[in-house]
Amino acid sequence: MLTDLTLSQAQDQLRSGAITSVELTQAYLDRIQAVDPQVRAYLTVTAEQALDMAAQADRRRQDGDNSPLLGIPLAIKDVLTTEGVPTTCGSRILEGFIPPYTGTAVQQLFDAGAVMLGKTNLDEFAMGSSTENSGYFTTRNPWDLDRVPGGSSGGSAAAVAARMAAGALGTDTGGSVRQPAALCGVSALKPSYGRVSRYGLIAFASSLDQIGVFGRSVSDLAVLMQTIAGHDPRDSTSMDYPVPDYTAALTGDVTGLRVGVPKEYFTEGIQPEVERAVRAAIQQFADLGADICEIGLPHTEYSLPVYYLIAPAEASANLARFDGVRYGPRHSQGAMWPTYKTTRGQGFGPEVKRRIMLGTYALSAGYYDAYYLKAQKVRTLIRQDFDQAFENVDVILAPTAPTTAFHIGEKTDDPLQMYLSDVFTLSASLAGIPGAVVPCGFDDNHLPVGLQIIGPAFGEATVLRAADAYQHVTDWHTRQPAL
Ligand code: GLN
Repeated sequence: MLTDLTLSQAQDQLRSGAITSVELTQAYLDRIQAVDPQVRAYLTVTAEQALDMAAQADRRRQDGDNSPLLGIPLAIKDVLTTEGVPTTCGSRILEGFIPPYTGTAVQQLFDAGAVMLGKTNLDEFAMGSSTENSGYFTTRNPWDLDRVPGGSSGGSAAAVAARMAAGALGTDTGGSVRQPAALCGVSALKPSYGRVSRYGLIAFASSLDQIGVFGRSVSDLAVLMQTIAGHDPRDSTSMDYPVPDYTAALTGDVTGLRVGVPKEYFTEGIQPEVERAVRAAIQQFADLGADICEIGLPHTEYSLPVYYLIAPAEASANLARFDGVRYGPRHSQGAMWPTYKTTRGQGFGPEVKRRIMLGTYALSAGYYDAYYLKAQKVRTLIRQDFDQAFENVDVILAPTAPTTAFHIGEKTDDPLQMYLSDVFTLSASLAGIPGAVVPCGFDDNHLPVGLQIIGPAFGEATVLRAADAYQHVTDWHTRQPAL
């Protein structure tokens, strides 16, 4: 099946003329029609537009264009603005909202000739770890339809896992690219803060949000990253650093690579099969000639409380703009205040309301120093843990999530349990450093496990090199769910 090809394999076939982008895109649309009624990865499928984009890509190819993404069908998380296409953030408060512009990263993919298949489901405003907080429906894990795909970018991860897209964009604030990648058995990368423009990413927590990529192999991630990385004058937090050649960085060689294994990431609460798979992956790196050593990241235990102060605080400010005046549906009550109240009361779901309340409290006069400022100070300590570690190691290997995919409904009544599924991803977000995920095995229920590879700020090339080298000697990433 055409949809079984990785991005790079599909590109080879497109280049050789064996297939056209219209054929490839139609194959994906057929696959979506066949499988998505069960998985429910997409909020919107833009079939007509996709075929138009594909036809345009085929014309560009006839004119001699050979760009690596030309004609490749991708899925876009519905928190990234797309001109003329509904963008809901998984929230009822943006139901029917059609943005007047396309954000930078998505536009860069379009300029490179990629085809958008549609917009994927997520936890409302990217707040969650299971897509169960979506205001529309829950996406299902392609490996077991009774389980969650992870979140918040669960739709993007499930779409790639179920062969409903060749690759996808997601966003990661505290783990939303990495955790669903692990739970769905796909490869992914959350880049450093500032590596990819956030222009057109509807903000959740501005000091943490970052766009990331999903694919079926690390070499596919390298191609996607190459297109979206770099400085953007429209995002003052995007850094003007040179973008390395990520594909050229994939040498397959990790001899002498210094690998740190943080003891704080192998604590109680981790599912034994997850630990076993991750430790086996670490052994594989040793077999490949990497130097493994144990390291300490002593402030890891504070990541969760720190994140759940900073992220809600920033969210409470960012979400103030959704009041029914400028965006989305308005529940008019005549006067202004009751209109705000009803619009926000009906438009936001319970988790978003919880975060707004937590964040508003943490920022309120008299509490700011005790909560927000204190959290920022501890955040610095967490970052310094990594700075120190990276004086002695090149990458850090760790689990991505403490468990494999959990059952739908299992954690919805207990927000703290839900928050705990991000314990291993929050630190890298707080430190602003890159983290990749590669499939590294299965548990006894045949659910995928993901290895996390963390690097220093702007060390994406090294992270990808390590991740790719692992995929040279393993085939976990080639397994696919039976659907
Ligand atoms: N699951 C975490 C949260 O609920 C992280 C979400 C994210 O990275 N967007 O906030």
